[in-house]
Amino acid sequence: MTEFSSLSRREFLAAAGCGTALGSLLGLGLSLRPAQARAQALRIREAKATPSLCPYCSVGCATIVHTIDGEIVNIEGDPRSPHNEGTLCPKGAAIYQLHKNPNRATKVLYRRPRGTAWEEVDLNWAMDRVAELVKKTRDETFVERLEDGTLVNHTTAIFALGGATLDNEWNHLQQKLMRGLGVVAIENQARI
Ligand code: SF4
Repeated sequence: MTEFSSLSRREFLAAAGCGTALGSLLGLGLSLRPAQARAQALRIREAKATPSLCPYCSVGCATIVHTIDGEIVNIEGDPRSPHNEGTLCPKGAAIYQLHKNPNRATKVLYRRPRGTAWEEVDLNWAMDRVAELVKKTRDETFVERLEDGTLVNHTTAIFALGGATLDNEWNHLQQKLMRGLGVVAIENQARI
């Protein structure tokens, strides 16, 4: 028995240009769900299961991370969780790709002022450059008091935007650093 009508599935496969053998099997009413479930079970049979959390938003869905010899082989929702009950939203369901992704950038790319191309630069050089520009911008724009004498000690020239994969500890340090510099525009993408 198929999940959808065989007609709509055939139409979908034809439109997607899928292989004819797979299309024929599905067209005959064969469900691949049991085979997929068995393949998944085999893939994680020898794996170590470690409970964790999805890092992407404040819902904090529980996950199970499967590893073999320290390598992540699978991440899925934890059915023991009382609030996500084993489910993950599409973003959370793709967490595995956060760890294993050939498209992930692993080098710092820099485009010089008035440059037209990206070039690879050393991470330490890039960190020093960021620090240098933050200090320069802060020194040039820091306001201690407004014209009416109100004490503000701020700069509105720097904006801090966190990412969904930053953890509590990082966000705590980040906001302390930013507030120490006088940055008042602090936001995190996980709230947007
Ligand atoms: S991003 Fe999705 S899976 Fe992750 S915690 Fe938020 S709702 Fe849950």
